Amino acid sequence: MLTNSIELLKDARKNKYAIPAPNFFDIDSARSYISVAEKVKQPIILSFAEAHSRILPLEEAALIGKYFAKKSSVPVVLHLDHGEHEEFLERAIELGFSSIMMDASYDNFEENIKRTQKMANYAHAHGISIEAEIGHVASSERIDFEDTTDNIYTSPNSAIEFVERTQVDSLAVSIGTSHGNYKGKPNIDFQLLKEISNSVSIPLVLHGGSSTGEENLRTCISNGINKINIFTDFCNAITSVIDSKNGLKFFDMKMESNKAMEDVLEQFYNVCQTGRN
Ligand SMILES: [Zn+2]
Repeated sequence: MLTNSIELLKDARKNKYAIPAPNFFDIDSARSYISVAEKVKQPIILSFAEAHSRILPLEEAALIGKYFAKKSSVPVVLHLDHGEHEEFLERAIELGFSSIMMDASYDNFEENIKRTQKMANYAHAHGISIEAEIGHVASSERIDFEDTTDNIYTSPNSAIEFVERTQVDSLAVSIGTSHGNYKGKPNIDFQLLKEISNSVSIPLVLHGGSSTGEENLRTCISNGINKINIFTDFCNAITSVIDSKNGLKFFDMKMESNKAMEDVLEQFYNVCQTGRN
């Protein structure tokens, strides 16, 4: 069933677990993710990034997402990830997405608040949940894009003000994780995460979950993370199928790639559920 993320993430915060948010980019990835959620009988935040609309048009992503969500036996949130343009987000809502992320984290604090506030009002008027980001989660060695950026850590005081003024439902924080493959080892500021979690009353989101390491992810969850975004690990899993199964027939390679994505997501579910109340 298709739903927004408000009640799901509230429950995750209350019971100290996280919901995986895998990024889909074609029909195979969407089907693979949903099949894992059904297998483990847990909700899923099926995400599609605005930046990937050059690979899969938004209209097609909406049709794929709604199709699988409606026939799924578990709650499915169809989430528009990293929406950077208001018109794109409004179009996603019009097409049936049940949740959005307004990413104005490139803007200065006041501008980020202003744009997020406006989009939060629009989303809530349509029954849609909204996530936003303050600070900035770095992009290093991206698989899908060239551009790289540096981390700007989230401050607890700005988190309090941001949440109060924008009324968003969940907050993406920058605590040392990174989009894409890490250049070195992840260096996560758990103390900062704890302070932010104690400062605000809404669920917190971790971007750049891929390759962060299970122990790090578990510590993030026990310190207030309730949604974990995953993308690069799926691409890496497919790449290693292609690299290691040289000579495999095309259809077999597709099947093996889907299986590889499923294995990755199932492992994330294990991590997300450990320590659950
Ligand atoms: Zn992200």
